[in-house]
Amino acid sequence: MLRRNSEENVPQKVKNLVWRAVSNSLPTMSLLASRGMSVDPRCPRCGEAMETILHMVLQCSESKLIWLLSPARISDGVALEGGSFSEWCLDMSKKCKMARSWEIVMMFVCQIWNLRNLWTYERRKMDPMLARHRTLQLLGEYEVALERKQPVSPPVELTPTSWQPPSAATFKLNTDAAVRDNKTGLGMVVRDGVGDVLMSAGLCTDVCCSVLQVEAEAVRFGLKYSLDAGMRSLEVESDCLPVVQLLRMKKRERSPAQMIVDDILSMASNFDYCEFIFANRSCNKVSHAIANSSLSFSEVRVWMEEHPADVLPLVTADKNFLYQ
Ligand SMILES: [Zn+2]
Repeated sequence: MLRRNSEENVPQKVKNLVWRAVSNSLPTMSLLASRGMSVDPRCPRCGEAMETILHMVLQCSESKLIWLLSPARISDGVALEGGSFSEWCLDMSKKCKMARSWEIVMMFVCQIWNLRNLWTYERRKMDPMLARHRTLQLLGEYEVALERKQPVSPPVELTPTSWQPPSAATFKLNTDAAVRDNKTGLGMVVRDGVGDVLMSAGLCTDVCCSVLQVEAEAVRFGLKYSLDAGMRSLEVESDCLPVVQLLRMKKRERSPAQMIVDDILSMASNFDYCEFIFANRSCNKVSHAIANSSLSFSEVRVWMEEHPADVLPLVTADKNFLYQ
């Protein structure tokens, strides 16, 4: 129970979200504030408490209403003042005698996060009954789709030419650099197992040096912002083979790039899991596009749960693995 790729019949996206909530890596306001971002740590919906995971999912009056309407009829969210969200999950998953009830709880956790984002970022509210209806409808549709799915063996591909999702329990960070007119643009994007964007960022610097150096800078930039956003488990992908070789410590050299690599490796030690992977350029189109458009930025830009609008077609195309 509560393993990232457990056997529950809910969309992978829902599993990922619950996993992020359990591992305290959902960007709630209190988490963002604790990472040094200048945001109000209080709940954007009720304003009455710090927005922790526990508050967001269970204690907020807005969430309590959803739970009361859910088939789970949970009304004891408040009883857990001292506990953590992961304790609640463990307790809840035990209480749910049937796998199905636990799946419904997971679906509602995900829906509450969506409603919270809808209000926080778009100032829109959804009728609680409608939210309940949509959540159960989604679960139903997913189950139907599962039954229809033909069991096919995945094609064996040694060097993928399109973006591939991270393996179990991790997210994938892609980074890239672009150089033009003595400026360097850095781009990063973090995605989950279904190719949804968790965050993206771009930066323009006046530093202009070797390809190796700027590509290493891009990895450092991406890893730093992922760390700041609370991620602790990452596959890091770059299309610069020499940088990946340095990062995998296959070789060492006396160069400015090595210093950046050493810095990246020390940052990587803060992660529970961090692996460096080489990928074809064709797998790295989103971060490449962000690096390119960053050339016109005057300051660093970070998108949480989002990406710049112009890379949407690339993000969508990278989800092709879902349909293969
Ligand atoms: Zn609240």
